[in-house]
Amino acid sequence: MKALCFDGKKLEYISDYPKPQSDEALVKVTMAGICGTDLEILQGYMSYEGVLGHEFVGVVEDAKNKELIGKRVVGEINVGCQNCEVCKKGNERHCPNRTVLGILNRDGAFAQYLSLPEKNLHVIPDSISDKQAVFIEPVAAAFEIKEQISLKPDWQVAIVGDGRLAQLIVSVLRTSCSKVTCFGRHQNKLDRLEKLGIKTKIGISKEDQHYFDLVVEATGSTSGFLDSMKLVKPKGVVILKSTIASKENLDLTPAVVNEITLVGSRCGPFRPAINALASGIISVDDLIESEYPLEKFQQAFDEAKKSNTLKVVLKP
Ligand SMILES: [Zn+2]
Ligand SMILES: [Zn+2]
Repeated sequence: MKALCFDGKKLEYISDYPKPQSDEALVKVTMAGICGTDLEILQGYMSYEGVLGHEFVGVVEDAKNKELIGKRVVGEINVGCQNCEVCKKGNERHCPNRTVLGILNRDGAFAQYLSLPEKNLHVIPDSISDKQAVFIEPVAAAFEIKEQISLKPDWQVAIVGDGRLAQLIVSVLRTSCSKVTCFGRHQNKLDRLEKLGIKTKIGISKEDQHYFDLVVEATGSTSGFLDSMKLVKPKGVVILKSTIASKENLDLTPAVVNEITLVGSRCGPFRPAINALASGIISVDDLIESEYPLEKFQQAFDEAKKSNTLKVVLKP
């Protein structure tokens, strides 16, 4: 099968990569999204080697549960060992022996086929198109914030960053909080949010400093963390969504002095993400900017890396 494989140094297109062989469900990938994490992996994040990609929609080609065959699905990306204490408590996402699709010891979605345990798969309703479904994984990551923090409707909320994930986080948080401001750097991306009725800003003014009850850092850069510390009010909450490949020294003194609660936030629940897309309370319709076949991965990644690009998808 065709696949994009990262060998630790460079990403390569392989036309005869072995098709997954396992007792898991076999999924034919229809569409897969390139995300910030993929770009971080190419910079050395997770020291991952193998087929890249974790945001996908596909069709089940083979499974033990015959009812799944032919169904359009998306898939939760973490697979626990099922044996350890963490898994037994139902916390598979944090299993120390877990594999993660396209991120940790498990071939990913930038290929014609992938395999995942059947219980990781979610059948998606016809009302969600493939172009919407490819966003379910990152929308779920945005919903994780709601699982972690009990949001108050009158909170002043700031999102730092205007990229792919930040755009989804804004849409999700807006369903709970009315006062949401996005701090970005790219006018074209902020214009999209303005159209959705979101307040946007480039740069932090004096009045913004230490004004926000909740700040979500989703820039993927060290400066985003420093900006978040400037925006959050004393005793406020900062959610960290970026996995930053560079390990620069971060000054955590402001977090101590202002007694800030720092919350790391990763993958989230698929069910509310699917429901939100099916009901239309969250729109992802104008986020995809281009589609490429796997063979043209170089162009696809070059475009995804550009700072003003929103979403690039691959069609294996
Ligand atoms: Zn992702
Ligand atoms: Zn486990």
